[in-house]
Amino acid sequence: MELLTYPNKILEKKSESVEKIDANLLKLAADMKKLLKTIDGIGLAAPQIGKNTRLCVVGYYYKDKDDNKKAKEDSPDIPELILINPEITWKTKKQIIEKEGCLSFPGIEYNIARPEKLHCRYINQQGKKQKIKARGLMARALMHEVDHLNGTLIKDRKIQ
Ligand SMILES: [Zn+2]
Repeated sequence: MELLTYPNKILEKKSESVEKIDANLLKLAADMKKLLKTIDGIGLAAPQIGKNTRLCVVGYYYKDKDDNKKAKEDSPDIPELILINPEITWKTKKQIIEKEGCLSFPGIEYNIARPEKLHCRYINQQGKKQKIKARGLMARALMHEVDHLNGTLIKDRKIQ
């Protein structure tokens, strides 16, 4: 699995909704989660590995001294999640401006405004509808990943 970087055209295409959760989709999600654990990021969207499918993974991992990757215990704000067809259903008008990077823009960070809090609806691997309330870094991560599924990238959001 290869991580695509800008200006790959796939990154700017709107992704298709998942109609059926089958073995292929679950394999793709598992592979994305595995890849995320090996890189320094908190989220990965399917277009970043060449699939225009509305699927993303989030999670906060770090490398411990034995070189194992595991979820960072002191960061409960970023739970390990696989999100299928995620949708932002509510967000605060209040936005927070912070530096934000993207695995598809290596070494680049832009100032980007994101809502302070939001609600996100998605389908989990079992096909169940879920809703989460997020704030801060998690809200930023979810906005970032949903942007990817719409073909919107950090260069489109940057504040001068
Ligand atoms: Zn990104």
